[in-house]
Amino acid sequence: MTERAPVSTPLALVRETIARTCKIARREPEDVTLIAVSKTRSAEDILPLLEQGQRVFGENRVQEAQAKWPELRESFPDSELHLIGQLQSNKAEDAAELFDCIHALDRPSLVKALGKAFDKTGRRVPCFVQVDVGDEKQKGGCPVAELPALLKLAREADIPLRGLMSLPPADIEPAPFFALLGKLAMDHGLADLSMGMSGDYETAIMLGATHVRVGTALFGPRN
Ligand SMILES: *Cc1c(COP(=O)(O)O)cnc(C)c1O
Repeated sequence: MTERAPVSTPLALVRETIARTCKIARREPEDVTLIAVSKTRSAEDILPLLEQGQRVFGENRVQEAQAKWPELRESFPDSELHLIGQLQSNKAEDAAELFDCIHALDRPSLVKALGKAFDKTGRRVPCFVQVDVGDEKQKGGCPVAELPALLKLAREADIPLRGLMSLPPADIEPAPFFALLGKLAMDHGLADLSMGMSGDYETAIMLGATHVRVGTALFGPRN
């Protein structure tokens, strides 16, 4: 009789890696949320992950998420949807209605728009403030120097703040940027850190990430 090897899906491998890294970092795997980044993926690509028990997903476009998720959520009502991409102020209300968490709060005009959207929809969605740790203006994110003022505005607007998020520069060792984000969160009394993607989530976990945003390692390369 031949024994069959256990099926190792990409999801199982990523979960194993998270568990192994947490052990080294002396952290509990439950304290790290895996966000499966499903931007550009079809419902058929996403379904197998839902069937394997993954429940937290990240999308970067409001319209794309509106097209895909209402139907998926009928079958999996306990799934949780995070907006990880830039948000235009005129989409704030749509975002408030659809998402369970928003990761890219990065400017005063968006604080204002989200505050209004939360009042109007009656949903106060937890937010991460995106910080431009690498000083790269094109990716969005609040400049480090402007973070205290933005956090103050967000608190005044009654926006539930979960933590800080960053997208460090590509092709440079990310660890110093993760460490900086961790320090900023600690300085401002914020608990959660959304950092780390397919190429660097282990490093991010070692440096305190509570939310890792992983796409390619789960779904394969994007076109
Ligand atoms: C696409 C994306 C990710 C996932 O990147 P992978 O390298 O595919 O894991 C994470 N965070 C943000 C903000 C993204 O836009």
